[in-house]
Amino acid sequence: MYFVGRIPIARLLASEMTIFGVVMVSGLLFVRSGSLSMGDLIPFLVVGIGMPTSIVPAIHGSQGLRKGRLSAGNVENLLNRKPLPEPLQFQTMNGYQISFNDVSFAYDGQNMVLKNINLTCEPGTVTALVGPSGAGKSTLANLLPRFYDVTAGSISIGGADIRSIPSNRLLSSMSLVFQDVVLLRDTVAENIRIGKSGATLAEIKDAAQAAQIHHVIEQLPNGYDTVLGSGSSGLSGGERQRLTIARAILSGAPIVILDEATASLDPDSELAVQQALSKLASGKTMIVIAHRLHTIQEADQIIVIDDGQIVETGKHKELIIANGLYSRMWNSQQKNQNRYDKEII
Ligand code: ATP
Repeated sequence: MYFVGRIPIARLLASEMTIFGVVMVSGLLFVRSGSLSMGDLIPFLVVGIGMPTSIVPAIHGSQGLRKGRLSAGNVENLLNRKPLPEPLQFQTMNGYQISFNDVSFAYDGQNMVLKNINLTCEPGTVTALVGPSGAGKSTLANLLPRFYDVTAGSISIGGADIRSIPSNRLLSSMSLVFQDVVLLRDTVAENIRIGKSGATLAEIKDAAQAAQIHHVIEQLPNGYDTVLGSGSSGLSGGERQRLTIARAILSGAPIVILDEATASLDPDSELAVQQALSKLASGKTMIVIAHRLHTIQEADQIIVIDDGQIVETGKHKELIIANGLYSRMWNSQQKNQNRYDKEII
């Protein structure tokens, strides 16, 4: 479809024809009643046909203004939000074991989205959070960097309540790898350097190599100096994900929180991302929000959450034998995968 600005040309033509028709019919009526001469009607017709092209951009401009006002409102809301309080008395983390102690949480202070969560994640292990959509997996992970504070109970890292750890210390202890990959319009090297300011190019390349993305970067027009375009053009979804994994590897943070992408990657990309993740996980306390269960079969513990509560805990094989919610989710995903495989053959 062709567009003038953002108005489809067919719509523009239709509106021009309508206005032309209205001017023509009403003009002829005036001519017939004798209050307008045929000669006077012609300039009206000429003006009438040109009207939509001048009115439509004005309407469009007012829509832009409305959107701008909405965005300004969102920015204002963000600026008005109070930062979470900094501790008055600090506690020091003694290691990076994470403990959720009887944690409950409600966004509105009343309707509990998480209920009595008790969970321990040991350093050097992978904990996978699984469960139906809306169960509370992301909410649980978002409590760790204190995007929100618990409504009841407590969370501790290395024995220290996270509310007693200065926010810069808390945040520098963790790498967050979320589904929405945020890349800046800057060089590839700078995009990875976000993980550790002042990192040398050699360190950046080491991280990229560990994240299985070095060879892709080398093939870009200016290698590590290539400026990523809008939407990070030139990099596939899996490659962008590996770039953020390289960033997390470079940061060396002892805790990793990963919200696994829901979009299915092609098998090569998925394998590369999995290999990059196992490099990232090595020796860390890792929490993965998993949507595709086959990616977390090797996790040290799988926590099944349903309606804000932990309903099952165990390793993959144990949970399959238990024949509960995990097993049903697994069977359903396997069935869908088989159907998909048959369709693409
Ligand atoms: P998914 O797998 O779809 O990402 P999830 O298990 O991660 O789901 P959450 O995103 O944690 O689930 O949501 C848990 C509940 O909290 C849902 O009912 C959701 O609607 C609600 N919720 C999530 N974020 C907010 C928010 N910012 N404000 C209010 N309610 C929220």
